[in-house]
Amino acid sequence: MTINIKEISDKDRNSVLHPFTQLKAFASGELGDPTIVETGKGIRIQDAHGNHLIDGFAGLYCVNVGYGRAEVAEAISRQAFRLAYYHSYAAHTTDELAILSDRLVKMAPGKMSKVFYGMSGSDANETQAKLVWYYNNLRGKPSKKKIISRERGYHGCSVVSGSMTGMSFYHDHMDLPLPQIVHTGVPHHYWGRNPGESEREFSTRRGEELDQLIERLGPENVGGFIGEPVLGTGGITPPPEGYWQAIQAVLKKHDVLLIADEVITGFGRTGSMFGSQHYGIEPDLVTIAKGLTSAYFPLSAAIVGEKVYKVLEDGADKVGAFSHGYTYSGHPIGAAAANAVLDIVEKEDLPGNARDVGAFFQAQLQEKFAQLPIVGEVRGVGLMGAIEFVADRKNRERFDPSLKVGARVSKAARDRGLIARAMPHGDILGFAPPLVTTKGEAEEIVALAEGAVRSVMDDLVREGERI
Ligand SMILES: *Cc1c(COP(=O)(O)O)cnc(C)c1O
Repeated sequence: MTINIKEISDKDRNSVLHPFTQLKAFASGELGDPTIVETGKGIRIQDAHGNHLIDGFAGLYCVNVGYGRAEVAEAISRQAFRLAYYHSYAAHTTDELAILSDRLVKMAPGKMSKVFYGMSGSDANETQAKLVWYYNNLRGKPSKKKIISRERGYHGCSVVSGSMTGMSFYHDHMDLPLPQIVHTGVPHHYWGRNPGESEREFSTRRGEELDQLIERLGPENVGGFIGEPVLGTGGITPPPEGYWQAIQAVLKKHDVLLIADEVITGFGRTGSMFGSQHYGIEPDLVTIAKGLTSAYFPLSAAIVGEKVYKVLEDGADKVGAFSHGYTYSGHPIGAAAANAVLDIVEKEDLPGNARDVGAFFQAQLQEKFAQLPIVGEVRGVGLMGAIEFVADRKNRERFDPSLKVGARVSKAARDRGLIARAMPHGDILGFAPPLVTTKGEAEEIVALAEGAVRSVMDDLVREGERI
């Protein structure tokens, strides 16, 4: 298809309200034209000018099976021709939905029982909050409602999930967070540690702080805790040693449900099928989205553990039908897409690829970046990684935000043909390539990133920064 680039750009500028875009700079043309993405194959996308870009972020950590997978497109098409839609209210179903749910319950971490479907990670986390509240109402603990999340956690942008998200950038001017959501300390040793504190000591302290927070709020008022096994948008930060053990002990002690937000870590990204399995987490509720369909169709789910489900079932005679659901809950095209994607995840052992290529990728990142004078920390697990830039390595000091170091490195990478994301909290360059990435492709990504980082480093020296 040939498109008229000017016409599309004008129509877009005049009519699309883009997420996370400086509206005035875009409207005035200062940001340039929109990037019109036309096609994708494997780990690459192509824009309307014919430029090829390596997508080192798999869209938004979601296109895990890579672009252009005919098996998934065909499954979607087959289902659309056969039955484009039916709802799942009042015990209606489709074969694809029943098969998918059986697979998910069997593969998910913890002791899972049932799957509730939505369309986005945000709405699935919103469902989790309602489940925590419903569960505690049904078991006669109506005050046990507060949900604790972490600073720099990311759980979405809706009213409840946006409140769970622990970054002020997502709250300011939007009247969030809600009072039912409370935040505790970020699990990031590099910035959070006290002088001389080991990872293990830091994790123990985070556990103690959580314990004190719950005591302060009153355990009878705290219903849930939500966390990503690996912090994603908050900076791609694997948990420090012993962190999840320390947190889980406190949650058990106070009878607080654990929601594992596996939206990024689900389906292989860490090198295990789920991040919970990677870190020994036993969740009561599990949120999945992104990798579930590799973004070929919008589909998410709240997977409900046995403990919670039993209370829901036991309470049904009292409250009647489960009063929560969306028109598109369990959409058959989404279910068909997910089944086709999970076939690929299993057949091609994408968790295994993320483990093997991921180990190589992490070693390369360490080798090429860890010793550079502007790099404070290189971190990651499997096929997710980050480089954090600092002005002073020794004293752990950030760059002046007005220098926009993270954004400049990301732009320099883009100019070299690599999409790597400037993360919102600090000067951080993040990577989360598709899980089908090969060793050779990982090498390409690292080489392009190295060129970008070195060029910005040279610019900073030219500008008189002491590095
Ligand atoms: C992306 C993301 C969400 C929100 O998903 P949306 O589909 O954007 O609503 C929730 N949790 C985590 C960990 C995410 O990365």
